[in-house]
Amino acid sequence: MKHYVVNGGGMVGAAAALALARAGQQVTLIDSNSLVEPEPDWDLRISSVNDNHWQWLLSLGIGDSINWQKVNPYEGLSVTTVRGSSLTFSAQDAGRQQLGVMVENNNLQAALWQCLSGYANVSLRAPAAIECFDLQQQRLRLNDDSWLSYDVLIGADGSGSAVARAAGIGYRGWDYGQRCLLANVELQQPIEAQTWEIFRPQGPFALLPLSSYQACLIDYRSHAEISAISQHKEQLVKALEQTFRPYVGDFEVHRYASFPLQRKHALNYYRDNTLLMGDAAHSIHPLAGQGVNLGFADVRTYLAVDGDNCRYQRQRQRQNQTMMRTMDAIHVGFTARSRLLQSGLGVALKLVNQAALKKQILRQALQA
Ligand SMILES: Cc1cc2nc3c(=O)[nH]c(=O)nc-3n(C[C@H](O)[C@H](O)[C@H](O)COP(=O)(O)OP(=O)(O)OC[C@H]3O[C@@H](n4cnc5c(N)ncnc54)[C@H](O)[C@@H]3O)c2cc1C
Repeated sequence: MKHYVVNGGGMVGAAAALALARAGQQVTLIDSNSLVEPEPDWDLRISSVNDNHWQWLLSLGIGDSINWQKVNPYEGLSVTTVRGSSLTFSAQDAGRQQLGVMVENNNLQAALWQCLSGYANVSLRAPAAIECFDLQQQRLRLNDDSWLSYDVLIGADGSGSAVARAAGIGYRGWDYGQRCLLANVELQQPIEAQTWEIFRPQGPFALLPLSSYQACLIDYRSHAEISAISQHKEQLVKALEQTFRPYVGDFEVHRYASFPLQRKHALNYYRDNTLLMGDAAHSIHPLAGQGVNLGFADVRTYLAVDGDNCRYQRQRQRQNQTMMRTMDAIHVGFTARSRLLQSGLGVALKLVNQAALKKQILRQALQA
């Protein structure tokens, strides 16, 4: 049995801790924050978790701890260009009952922490922080002056990873020059259990269904545009109505916030006995909702290769890089103002709509 210290108990770090604990390892999970108290309304931080990873999370035992009111299955997914070419995927195409679920990040994190608290081989330290990394001696000093020795240190502490910094692991990346505006709304007309995204030159807009009458609306625009429309709530509501009303009818905005869009990829996923998972290793453009799914794939791959750091890095770096490049190509392709490129994308979507190709793409997306 090894002692794993996982720094960062977000969705990825907590899932890694739980999977390791179930595999019989000794685990200490550290997070600088306490759990966020659940609120009756949906939080803005929501993730679409694909069905493959959702079934894996359920197999870890979260089913009894999750608040099912803040889990909404979706059966369909479509992308459309402003010129009207579209591509749709359904659960039927994938031979599944659902393509995945929309789940509140806090809800999933709380369920994972609750499961962890039932394991005698797990120590949960939150709020707590590592003050001193002694990577050579494989020990850490926490902010309560206690020392922890470990066999393996996992950095799952997000895109500003302290573990990556301590291990001297650098990143390659850039800012997309855009922000993503999220707004949770109450709709007057019911919506289907489908997520959709429409691409226009200034950036896509999308809908994530939270229930029959609730949705999260997403609008990607330049920093300048988002800060201009976010000055006053009335202005923001008007901008959202202009974009979304033709598709969903009238709605009331409950809460909103915007986030900058960055791409960051660690140059290495491990150094000696220290490794990175989730956003600590890669943060990706959220337009296809892949970020946390890639993190779950990191955890599952690490377990599948029996903790072989080299194989872990080889497999995950390649796959994450492919997904990041795909997101960049989509971002650049759909925001291009060239008519030729736009028509080409229309043709490409029609081609992908062929049943065989669609099934292959879905298979790959569900493995992400
Ligand atoms: C607008 C937006 C929409 C998104 N939508 C989707 C989606 O639909 N589907 C999807 O798959 N992904 C989505 N993502 C990406 C997804 O949110 C991230 O990939 C995911 O949250 C990463 O999880 P993580 O556990 O790796 O990191 P984080 O969620 O960043 O968690 C890191 C944890 O580490 C803790 N921590 C940080 N620093 C320290 C420290 N120094 N010491 C101790 N603890 C520390 C934090 O408190 C936190 O609990 C979206 C992202 C954005 C910005």
